[in-house]
Amino acid sequence: MSKKDMLKLAKELNRFIDASPTASHCVSETEKKLLENGFKRLYEKDVWKLKNGDKFFVIRHESALIAGIYGKKNLKEFGFRIIGSHTDSPSFKLKPKAAFIKDGYIQLSTEVYGGPLYASWLDRELSLAGNVVVKKGKSYEIKLIDLEKPVLIIPQLAIHYNRDVNEAFKLNPQENLVPIMGLSEKTVNDDYIKDIIAEKLKIKASEIINYDLELYAVQKGNICGFENDFIMNRGLDDKSMVHASLQALLEVTPSDSTMIIALYDNEEVGSSTTNGGKSSFTCDVLERLTNFNREDCLRAIDRSYFISADGAHAIHPNYSLKFDKLNKVYLNKGPVIKINANTSYATTTESSAVFEMICTAKKIPYQKFVNRSDVRGGGTIGSMIANNLGIRTVDIGNAMLAMHSVRETAGVKDHYWMKEAMKGFLEY
Ligand code: ZN
Repeated sequence: MSKKDMLKLAKELNRFIDASPTASHCVSETEKKLLENGFKRLYEKDVWKLKNGDKFFVIRHESALIAGIYGKKNLKEFGFRIIGSHTDSPSFKLKPKAAFIKDGYIQLSTEVYGGPLYASWLDRELSLAGNVVVKKGKSYEIKLIDLEKPVLIIPQLAIHYNRDVNEAFKLNPQENLVPIMGLSEKTVNDDYIKDIIAEKLKIKASEIINYDLELYAVQKGNICGFENDFIMNRGLDDKSMVHASLQALLEVTPSDSTMIIALYDNEEVGSSTTNGGKSSFTCDVLERLTNFNREDCLRAIDRSYFISADGAHAIHPNYSLKFDKLNKVYLNKGPVIKINANTSYATTTESSAVFEMICTAKKIPYQKFVNRSDVRGGGTIGSMIANNLGIRTVDIGNAMLAMHSVRETAGVKDHYWMKEAMKGFLEY
Protein backbone atom coordinates (compact mmCIF):
# COMPACT_ATOMS: atom_id res chain seq x y z
CA MET A 1 0.00 0.00 0.00
CA SER A 2 1.53 3.27 -1.13
CA LYS A 3 1.01 6.71 0.39
CA LYS A 4 -0.74 7.55 -2.90
CA ASP A 5 -3.42 4.88 -2.26
CA MET A 6 -3.81 6.15 1.28
CA LEU A 7 -4.25 9.77 0.14
CA LYS A 8 -6.77 8.65 -2.47
CA LEU A 9 -8.92 6.97 0.19
CA ALA A 10 -8.59 9.98 2.53
CA LYS A 11 -9.80 12.29 -0.27
CA GLU A 12 -12.67 9.91 -0.96
CA LEU A 13 -13.55 10.08 2.75
CA ASN A 14 -13.62 13.89 2.55
CA ARG A 15 -15.90 13.76 -0.48
CA PHE A 16 -18.23 11.39 1.42
CA ILE A 17 -18.34 13.66 4.49
CA ASP A 18 -18.74 16.83 2.40
CA ALA A 19 -21.91 15.27 0.95
CA SER A 20 -23.15 14.22 4.42
CA PRO A 21 -24.06 17.32 6.45
CA THR A 22 -26.59 15.35 8.56
CA ALA A 23 -27.16 11.73 9.63
CA SER A 24 -29.87 11.33 6.96
CA HIS A 25 -27.59 12.69 4.24
CA CYS A 26 -24.88 10.26 5.41
CA VAL A 27 -27.31 7.37 4.99
CA SER A 28 -28.40 8.68 1.60
CA GLU A 29 -24.75 8.83 0.43
CA THR A 30 -24.20 5.29 1.72
CA GLU A 31 -27.32 4.14 -0.12
CA LYS A 32 -26.01 5.61 -3.41
CA LYS A 33 -22.73 3.70 -3.03
CA LEU A 34 -24.50 0.45 -2.17
CA LEU A 35 -26.87 0.70 -5.15
CA GLU A 36 -23.94 1.42 -7.49
CA ASN A 37 -22.31 -1.78 -6.21
CA GLY A 38 -25.23 -4.16 -6.70
CA PHE A 39 -26.79 -4.08 -3.22
CA LYS A 40 -30.58 -4.36 -3.20
CA ARG A 41 -32.76 -2.27 -0.89
CA LEU A 42 -35.13 -4.20 1.39
CA TYR A 43 -37.99 -2.65 3.34
CA GLU A 44 -39.00 -3.60 6.86
CA LYS A 45 -42.68 -3.63 5.80
CA ASP A 46 -42.01 -6.42 3.26
CA VAL A 47 -41.26 -10.13 3.51
CA TRP A 48 -37.54 -10.79 2.95
CA LYS A 49 -36.38 -13.69 0.84
CA LEU A 50 -32.60 -13.83 0.84
CA LYS A 51 -30.35 -16.40 -0.73
CA ASN A 52 -26.72 -17.16 0.08
CA GLY A 53 -24.47 -14.48 -1.41
CA ASP A 54 -27.23 -11.83 -1.72
CA LYS A 55 -26.19 -8.21 -1.14
CA PHE A 56 -28.85 -6.21 0.70
CA PHE A 57 -29.50 -3.12 2.78
CA VAL A 58 -32.33 -1.68 4.84
CA ILE A 59 -32.86 1.89 6.03
CA ARG A 60 -34.74 2.71 9.21
CA HIS A 61 -36.28 6.19 9.49
CA GLU A 62 -33.90 7.95 7.07
CA SER A 63 -30.89 8.18 9.38
CA ALA A 64 -29.85 4.56 10.14
CA LEU A 65 -28.88 1.76 7.78
CA ILE A 66 -27.88 -1.89 7.95
CA ALA A 67 -26.21 -3.44 4.90
CA GLY A 68 -24.81 -6.89 4.40
CA ILE A 69 -23.74 -9.82 2.30
CA TYR A 70 -25.61 -12.99 3.16
CA GLY A 71 -23.07 -15.73 3.97
CA LYS A 72 -22.36 -18.63 1.67
CA LYS A 73 -22.98 -21.16 4.41
CA ASN A 74 -25.58 -21.86 7.06
CA LEU A 75 -25.85 -18.87 9.41
CA LYS A 76 -26.18 -20.88 12.61
CA GLU A 77 -22.81 -22.47 11.97
CA PHE A 78 -20.88 -19.42 10.78
CA GLY A 79 -22.59 -16.46 12.43
CA PHE A 80 -22.37 -12.73 11.72
CA ARG A 81 -19.45 -10.32 11.41
CA ILE A 82 -20.91 -6.91 12.22
CA ILE A 83 -19.29 -3.46 12.22
CA GLY A 84 -21.29 -0.70 13.93
CA SER A 85 -20.73 3.06 13.75
CA HIS A 86 -22.86 6.19 14.01
CA THR A 87 -24.15 8.72 11.51
CA ASP A 88 -24.81 11.73 13.77
CA SER A 89 -22.45 14.44 15.03
CA PRO A 90 -22.85 17.20 17.63
CA SER A 91 -24.65 20.24 16.24
CA PHE A 92 -27.32 22.87 16.78
CA LYS A 93 -30.93 22.15 15.74
CA LEU A 94 -33.50 24.81 14.87
CA LYS A 95 -36.31 25.20 17.38
CA PRO A 96 -39.89 25.01 15.99
CA LYS A 97 -40.20 28.79 16.36
CA ALA A 98 -36.76 29.86 15.27
CA ALA A 99 -36.67 33.11 13.28
CA PHE A 100 -36.69 36.50 14.98
CA ILE A 101 -35.27 40.01 14.56
CA LYS A 102 -32.91 41.59 17.07
CA ASP A 103 -31.09 44.88 16.54
CA GLY A 104 -31.82 44.68 12.83
CA TYR A 105 -30.38 41.16 12.42
CA ILE A 106 -32.38 38.09 11.40
CA GLN A 107 -31.45 35.40 13.91
CA LEU A 108 -32.41 31.75 14.42
CA SER A 109 -33.06 30.14 17.75
CA THR A 110 -31.37 26.74 18.17
CA GLU A 111 -31.08 23.90 20.65
CA VAL A 112 -27.77 22.12 21.28
CA TYR A 113 -27.56 18.54 19.92
CA GLY A 114 -24.99 16.38 21.72
CA GLY A 115 -21.75 17.88 23.03
CA PRO A 116 -20.21 20.26 20.48
CA LEU A 117 -17.04 22.23 21.30
CA TYR A 118 -18.85 25.56 21.22
CA ALA A 119 -15.90 27.82 20.41
CA SER A 120 -15.13 25.86 17.23
CA TRP A 121 -18.46 27.02 15.72
CA LEU A 122 -17.63 30.74 16.01
CA ASP A 123 -16.76 32.92 12.99
CA ARG A 124 -17.40 30.15 10.47
CA GLU A 125 -19.52 29.96 7.37
CA LEU A 126 -22.48 27.83 8.40
CA SER A 127 -25.43 26.38 6.52
CA LEU A 128 -28.61 24.42 7.21
CA ALA A 129 -29.58 20.88 6.26
CA GLY A 130 -32.06 18.24 7.42
CA ASN A 131 -35.41 16.57 6.73
CA VAL A 132 -38.67 18.10 5.55
CA VAL A 133 -42.07 16.37 5.78
CA VAL A 134 -44.09 17.30 2.70
CA LYS A 135 -47.78 16.65 1.95
CA LYS A 136 -48.42 14.01 -0.66
CA GLY A 137 -52.17 13.56 -1.26
CA LYS A 138 -53.61 12.35 2.03
CA SER A 139 -50.22 11.07 3.12
CA TYR A 140 -46.73 12.59 3.27
CA GLU A 141 -43.18 12.07 2.15
CA ILE A 142 -39.84 12.94 3.76
CA LYS A 143 -37.37 14.90 1.65
CA LEU A 144 -33.77 15.75 2.42
CA ILE A 145 -32.69 19.37 2.17
CA ASP A 146 -29.29 21.04 2.13
CA LEU A 147 -29.04 24.79 1.58
CA GLU A 148 -25.37 24.20 0.62
CA LYS A 149 -24.28 27.84 0.54
CA PRO A 150 -23.06 29.69 3.65
CA VAL A 151 -26.12 31.39 5.16
CA LEU A 152 -25.31 31.75 8.86
CA ILE A 153 -22.58 33.08 11.16
CA ILE A 154 -22.06 33.08 14.92
CA PRO A 155 -19.63 35.99 15.34
CA GLN A 156 -17.42 36.36 18.39
CA LEU A 157 -17.51 39.51 20.48
CA ALA A 158 -14.59 41.84 19.75
CA ILE A 159 -11.81 41.53 22.31
CA HIS A 160 -12.26 45.22 23.22
CA TYR A 161 -15.52 44.30 25.00
CA ASN A 162 -14.15 41.23 26.70
CA ARG A 163 -10.51 41.74 27.71
CA ASP A 164 -10.47 38.48 29.72
CA VAL A 165 -11.64 36.31 26.84
CA ASN A 166 -8.22 34.67 26.39
CA GLU A 167 -8.08 33.76 30.09
CA ALA A 168 -11.52 32.16 30.45
CA PHE A 169 -14.88 32.75 28.85
CA LYS A 170 -18.07 30.75 29.12
CA LEU A 171 -20.33 30.55 26.08
CA ASN A 172 -24.04 30.35 26.90
CA PRO A 173 -25.86 28.58 24.03
CA GLN A 174 -29.11 30.50 24.58
CA GLU A 175 -27.39 33.90 24.61
CA ASN A 176 -24.03 33.76 22.83
CA LEU A 177 -24.45 31.08 20.15
CA VAL A 178 -27.48 32.43 18.29
CA PRO A 179 -26.60 32.50 14.58
CA ILE A 180 -27.21 35.52 12.33
CA MET A 181 -28.84 34.91 8.95
CA GLY A 182 -29.11 38.43 7.53
CA LEU A 183 -30.38 41.95 8.03
CA SER A 184 -34.00 43.12 7.96
CA GLU A 185 -36.09 46.17 8.72
CA LYS A 186 -39.28 44.08 8.91
CA THR A 187 -40.40 41.42 11.38
CA VAL A 188 -40.07 37.72 10.51
CA ASN A 189 -42.09 34.67 11.56
CA ASP A 190 -42.09 30.91 10.88
CA ASP A 191 -42.97 31.52 7.22
CA TYR A 192 -39.45 32.88 6.80
CA ILE A 193 -37.91 29.39 7.16
CA LYS A 194 -40.75 27.69 5.25
CA ASP A 195 -40.28 30.04 2.29
CA ILE A 196 -36.55 29.24 2.18
CA ILE A 197 -37.26 25.48 2.28
CA ALA A 198 -40.00 25.79 -0.38
CA GLU A 199 -37.69 27.67 -2.73
CA LYS A 200 -34.87 25.15 -2.34
CA LEU A 201 -37.12 22.10 -2.77
CA LYS A 202 -39.15 23.80 -5.51
CA ILE A 203 -42.44 23.18 -3.72
CA LYS A 204 -45.16 25.43 -2.23
CA ALA A 205 -44.65 26.58 1.37
CA SER A 206 -48.20 25.36 2.09
CA GLU A 207 -47.09 21.79 1.28
CA ILE A 208 -44.58 21.77 4.16
CA ILE A 209 -45.98 20.04 7.24
CA ASN A 210 -42.88 19.98 9.41
CA TYR A 211 -39.08 20.13 9.25
CA ASP A 212 -35.96 19.32 11.24
CA LEU A 213 -32.95 21.44 10.28
CA GLU A 214 -29.51 21.63 11.82
CA LEU A 215 -26.45 23.83 11.44
CA TYR A 216 -23.28 22.58 9.79
CA ALA A 217 -19.98 24.12 8.68
CA VAL A 218 -19.80 24.65 4.93
CA GLN A 219 -15.99 24.38 4.64
CA LYS A 220 -15.01 21.26 2.73
CA GLY A 221 -12.61 18.61 4.00
CA ASN A 222 -8.90 18.98 3.41
CA ILE A 223 -5.61 17.11 3.65
CA CYS A 224 -3.24 19.03 5.92
CA GLY A 225 0.35 18.90 7.25
CA PHE A 226 3.62 19.48 5.38
CA GLU A 227 3.85 15.77 4.53
CA ASN A 228 0.06 15.37 4.07
CA ASP A 229 -0.30 13.48 7.35
CA PHE A 230 -3.72 14.78 8.43
CA ILE A 231 -7.35 14.64 7.31
CA MET A 232 -9.40 17.63 8.45
CA ASN A 233 -13.17 17.78 8.24
CA ARG A 234 -16.36 18.07 10.26
CA GLY A 235 -17.99 14.91 11.60
CA LEU A 236 -14.93 12.63 11.32
CA ASP A 237 -16.51 11.27 14.53
CA ASP A 238 -18.05 9.11 13.32
CA LYS A 239 -18.53 9.36 9.57
CA SER A 240 -14.91 8.27 9.02
CA MET A 241 -15.87 4.91 10.57
CA VAL A 242 -19.09 4.78 8.52
CA HIS A 243 -16.98 5.32 5.40
CA ALA A 244 -14.27 2.81 6.37
CA SER A 245 -16.85 0.09 7.09
CA LEU A 246 -18.77 0.83 3.88
CA GLN A 247 -15.59 0.74 1.83
CA ALA A 248 -14.57 -2.54 3.52
CA LEU A 249 -17.96 -4.12 2.72
CA LEU A 250 -17.66 -3.04 -0.93
CA GLU A 251 -14.19 -4.58 -1.24
CA VAL A 252 -14.60 -7.91 0.61
CA THR A 253 -14.56 -11.36 -0.89
CA PRO A 254 -17.86 -12.92 0.29
CA SER A 255 -17.25 -15.78 2.71
CA ASP A 256 -19.13 -18.35 4.80
CA SER A 257 -20.16 -15.82 7.47
CA THR A 258 -22.78 -13.12 6.94
CA MET A 259 -21.06 -9.73 6.76
CA ILE A 260 -22.91 -6.69 8.08
CA ILE A 261 -22.31 -2.99 8.59
CA ALA A 262 -24.72 -1.13 10.89
CA LEU A 263 -24.95 2.66 10.92
CA TYR A 264 -26.91 4.04 13.87
CA ASP A 265 -28.27 7.50 14.57
CA ASN A 266 -28.34 9.42 17.86
CA GLU A 267 -25.14 8.10 19.46
CA GLU A 268 -24.30 11.65 20.54
CA VAL A 269 -27.50 11.86 22.62
CA GLY A 270 -27.56 8.40 24.20
CA SER A 271 -28.81 6.11 21.38
CA SER A 272 -32.31 5.58 22.89
CA THR A 273 -34.29 6.16 19.70
CA THR A 274 -36.04 4.00 17.09
CA ASN A 275 -32.81 3.69 15.12
CA GLY A 276 -30.01 4.26 17.64
CA GLY A 277 -27.58 1.69 19.07
CA LYS A 278 -30.03 0.79 21.85
CA SER A 279 -32.93 0.21 19.43
CA SER A 280 -34.33 -3.09 18.20
CA PHE A 281 -32.91 -2.44 14.71
CA THR A 282 -29.94 -4.87 14.86
CA CYS A 283 -31.88 -7.63 16.59
CA ASP A 284 -34.83 -7.25 14.16
CA VAL A 285 -32.51 -7.63 11.16
CA LEU A 286 -30.64 -10.62 12.64
CA GLU A 287 -33.95 -12.38 13.38
CA ARG A 288 -35.16 -11.83 9.82
CA LEU A 289 -31.87 -13.14 8.44
CA THR A 290 -32.39 -16.34 10.43
CA ASN A 291 -36.02 -16.58 9.22
CA PHE A 292 -37.41 -15.86 12.69
CA ASN A 293 -36.06 -19.15 13.95
CA ARG A 294 -35.08 -18.05 17.46
CA GLU A 295 -32.84 -21.02 18.08
CA ASP A 296 -30.97 -20.52 14.80
CA CYS A 297 -30.59 -16.83 15.61
CA LEU A 298 -29.16 -17.52 19.07
CA ARG A 299 -26.82 -20.18 17.70
CA ALA A 300 -25.63 -17.74 15.02
CA ILE A 301 -25.10 -14.99 17.61
CA ASP A 302 -22.87 -17.29 19.66
CA ARG A 303 -20.62 -17.64 16.61
CA SER A 304 -20.62 -13.90 15.91
CA TYR A 305 -18.36 -10.90 16.51
CA PHE A 306 -19.16 -7.20 16.61
CA ILE A 307 -16.83 -4.25 16.07
CA SER A 308 -18.02 -0.99 17.59
CA ALA A 309 -16.12 1.65 15.59
CA ASP A 310 -15.97 5.19 16.95
CA GLY A 311 -13.36 7.92 17.38
CA ALA A 312 -10.45 7.60 19.82
CA HIS A 313 -8.41 10.39 21.42
CA ALA A 314 -4.90 10.89 20.02
CA ILE A 315 -2.25 12.28 22.36
CA HIS A 316 -2.32 16.10 22.14
CA PRO A 317 1.18 17.57 22.52
CA ASN A 318 -0.12 20.75 24.17
CA TYR A 319 -2.02 18.79 26.84
CA SER A 320 0.12 15.67 27.33
CA LEU A 321 -0.72 15.42 31.03
CA LYS A 322 -4.38 14.73 30.22
CA PHE A 323 -3.40 11.30 28.91
CA ASP A 324 -2.23 8.09 30.56
CA LYS A 325 1.56 7.92 30.60
CA LEU A 326 1.88 4.48 29.00
CA ASN A 327 -1.43 3.90 27.19
CA LYS A 328 -1.56 6.95 24.91
CA VAL A 329 -2.22 6.56 21.19
CA TYR A 330 -0.86 8.40 18.17
CA LEU A 331 -2.06 9.55 14.75
CA ASN A 332 -0.98 7.31 11.86
CA LYS A 333 0.06 4.41 14.10
CA GLY A 334 -2.95 2.27 13.26
CA PRO A 335 -6.40 1.35 14.64
CA VAL A 336 -6.93 1.87 18.37
CA ILE A 337 -8.45 -0.79 20.64
CA LYS A 338 -10.30 0.99 23.46
CA ILE A 339 -10.25 -0.56 26.91
CA ASN A 340 -12.03 0.40 30.12
CA ALA A 341 -12.05 -1.59 33.37
CA ASN A 342 -15.54 -0.28 34.20
CA THR A 343 -16.86 -1.50 30.82
CA SER A 344 -17.75 1.85 29.27
CA TYR A 345 -16.06 0.10 26.33
CA ALA A 346 -17.22 -3.42 25.45
CA THR A 347 -13.73 -4.73 24.66
CA THR A 348 -12.88 -8.01 26.40
CA THR A 349 -9.61 -9.94 26.36
CA GLU A 350 -11.20 -12.33 23.86
CA SER A 351 -12.75 -9.77 21.49
CA SER A 352 -9.54 -7.73 21.55
CA ALA A 353 -7.47 -10.84 20.79
CA VAL A 354 -9.58 -11.59 17.69
CA PHE A 355 -9.04 -8.06 16.37
CA GLU A 356 -5.31 -8.21 17.20
CA MET A 357 -4.99 -11.51 15.30
CA ILE A 358 -6.67 -10.00 12.26
CA CYS A 359 -4.37 -6.94 12.29
CA THR A 360 -1.26 -9.07 12.79
CA ALA A 361 -2.20 -11.40 9.92
CA LYS A 362 -2.67 -8.38 7.62
CA LYS A 363 0.48 -6.60 8.93
CA ILE A 364 -1.59 -3.64 10.14
CA PRO A 365 -0.16 -1.82 13.19
CA TYR A 366 -2.57 -1.31 16.11
CA GLN A 367 -2.55 0.48 19.46
CA LYS A 368 -4.35 0.23 22.79
CA PHE A 369 -5.99 3.12 24.59
CA VAL A 370 -6.90 3.45 28.24
CA ASN A 371 -7.86 6.72 29.96
CA ARG A 372 -5.98 8.17 32.91
CA SER A 373 -7.35 6.54 36.06
CA ASP A 374 -8.83 9.90 37.16
CA VAL A 375 -10.57 10.60 33.82
CA ARG A 376 -14.01 9.16 33.11
CA GLY A 377 -13.87 9.33 29.27
CA GLY A 378 -16.77 8.71 26.90
CA GLY A 379 -18.88 5.70 26.02
CA THR A 380 -20.24 4.50 22.69
CA ILE A 381 -22.54 1.90 21.10
CA GLY A 382 -20.27 -1.06 21.93
CA SER A 383 -21.54 -1.77 25.45
CA MET A 384 -25.18 -1.38 24.36
CA ILE A 385 -24.79 -3.98 21.62
CA ALA A 386 -22.81 -6.37 23.84
CA ASN A 387 -25.44 -5.94 26.54
CA ASN A 388 -28.54 -6.32 24.32
CA LEU A 389 -27.39 -9.01 21.94
CA GLY A 390 -24.72 -10.87 23.84
CA ILE A 391 -22.34 -10.69 20.88
CA ARG A 392 -18.58 -10.60 21.62
CA THR A 393 -17.73 -6.96 20.96
CA VAL A 394 -14.53 -4.97 20.59
CA ASP A 395 -14.49 -1.15 20.77
CA ILE A 396 -12.06 0.30 18.28
CA GLY A 397 -11.55 3.57 16.41
CA ASN A 398 -8.97 5.82 14.85
CA ALA A 399 -7.04 8.34 16.89
CA MET A 400 -8.19 11.92 16.33
CA LEU A 401 -7.62 15.41 17.67
CA ALA A 402 -10.31 17.88 18.74
CA MET A 403 -13.14 15.35 18.92
CA HIS A 404 -16.53 17.17 18.73
CA SER A 405 -14.96 20.28 17.22
CA VAL A 406 -16.71 21.38 14.05
CA ARG A 407 -13.33 20.73 12.41
CA GLU A 408 -11.69 17.51 13.62
CA THR A 409 -8.28 16.08 12.66
CA ALA A 410 -7.41 12.42 11.94
CA GLY A 411 -4.57 10.52 10.27
CA VAL A 412 -4.39 9.72 6.53
CA LYS A 413 -2.66 6.34 7.05
CA ASP A 414 -5.04 5.34 9.86
CA HIS A 415 -8.08 5.60 7.61
CA TYR A 416 -6.56 3.19 5.10
CA TRP A 417 -5.43 0.76 7.81
CA MET A 418 -8.85 0.86 9.45
CA LYS A 419 -10.56 0.01 6.17
CA GLU A 420 -8.13 -2.89 5.66
CA ALA A 421 -8.59 -4.15 9.25
CA MET A 422 -12.39 -4.00 8.82
CA LYS A 423 -12.09 -5.95 5.59
CA GLY A 424 -10.05 -8.57 7.43
CA PHE A 425 -12.69 -8.71 10.18
CA LEU A 426 -15.62 -9.16 7.79
CA GLU A 427 -13.73 -11.97 6.05
CA TYR A 428 -12.66 -13.58 9.38
ZN1 ZN B 1 -18.60 9.08 18.08
